[in-house]
Amino acid sequence: MINLKNYQKEFEEALKYSQEYPFDLDCKDIIEKWYQNKKHFIDLFGGTPIIQSDEIVEFTLSTEDRSKYFNDFVNRIHNNGWAYYKYNNLSLKDFLWQSEAGFFDNKVTADPQMIGKIKIGDKLIKSLKYFFEDKKELRMCQDLASEYVQKNKIKGHIFFSVDPIDFLLASENNENWRSCHALDGEYRAGNLSYLLDETTVMVYLASADREHMRVIPSNYEAASKKVRLYIHIAENIMYYGKMYPFDLPHLRVYIKEVINQFYDKAGFSSRRNFLMPEQIGFNRIQLPNGDHATLDENCFFYWGDIVKSSDVIKQSEHALNYYDLIYSSTYRPYASFSQQGYYYTSGIVDKFTIHIGEDVPCALGCGNAVVSENTFICPTCREKMGAWHDYFDHCVDCGIRLFEDDTYYCSNAGLMFCESCYDPYYDEDDDDDY
Ligand SMILES: [Zn+2]
Ligand SMILES: [Zn+2]
Repeated sequence: MINLKNYQKEFEEALKYSQEYPFDLDCKDIIEKWYQNKKHFIDLFGGTPIIQSDEIVEFTLSTEDRSKYFNDFVNRIHNNGWAYYKYNNLSLKDFLWQSEAGFFDNKVTADPQMIGKIKIGDKLIKSLKYFFEDKKELRMCQDLASEYVQKNKIKGHIFFSVDPIDFLLASENNENWRSCHALDGEYRAGNLSYLLDETTVMVYLASADREHMRVIPSNYEAASKKVRLYIHIAENIMYYGKMYPFDLPHLRVYIKEVINQFYDKAGFSSRRNFLMPEQIGFNRIQLPNGDHATLDENCFFYWGDIVKSSDVIKQSEHALNYYDLIYSSTYRPYASFSQQGYYYTSGIVDKFTIHIGEDVPCALGCGNAVVSENTFICPTCREKMGAWHDYFDHCVDCGIRLFEDDTYYCSNAGLMFCESCYDPYYDEDDDDDY
């Protein structure tokens, strides 16, 4: 049995803490609307807002993402000044390029003529020792390499969730990734637009143990998501949102199977039986002269018909979420049709239509809607409370939120930085010039 009062209290505490609001919140409207619109999913999950897979699931990265991460790794080798360290006349950079094929298996595949004492098939991370004189630099480089190699295999339980805290913490984790839906991000209130609609479920991969995160009160723990996406389910179609921080194609297939099992158990099997995920969206076209052009928004195609995403993905007037499905220039959307939608629904628009993203009631409980994506308070209450700005500090350089223990204060300029933007140069004494 869902006790809405408990959900409300927990949600208010977490939201208040995350934004450092100096006043109490009233999120009764939010929790009631949540329950009303997500109840059909809670019922589908057997009376609970979160379902966790029994088994531990393991995925490997797509070839595309592997090559993206490999490039990223080599760039960091460059940035650290190690790219031209040499062994046997072979630069570290060339050694790595020649070993790209084995990189994620931690195996040397470089040219045997060039690599001296190192042998093909040796452990790549171990063999880095030939390129470094400084032990500390070697250790740093090996740590970096193993951080990247580990990304290839990702393991955990899969969670299907419509839980309010999970939605609030959509892009909060201890895994070193973020998105514009982070709680200091420009679309943070959009988490609640997804929380309050009738179609969105969050799916994530995480360990079964919950963890503390800095944005929630010290006695709270939550799932630290290694990979997260939203799915949006309508009568005839299920859309898959963009996966963060990287794409796991097999996860979509897994999701489709589990969702079908849920509907099967609930007796919907004849209507809700989703087919394999397909990439249906596109945002680039080829012009008659051979050039490519990027469109302002994604379009879908279906048996030769084309439809603009914004014509079928409907939203509420003040929905605050970022629509990856419509506007992302890097994500080409996937969807699964239901068997019924695929065979029996006529008209392309009927097959694709869905409502994603609801208006968000003010967290002070005044009844108005929030209209800016980066706050949880309506304009009237912002005025009344003087709450025009965040109550927490941001790095002046990159804008990321600053927590007390990692704020770097530059006393000369009176500015605050995060660890990666701070440069000791700012604090150097000018007295030497005199
Ligand atoms: Zn208000
Ligand atoms: Zn910064």
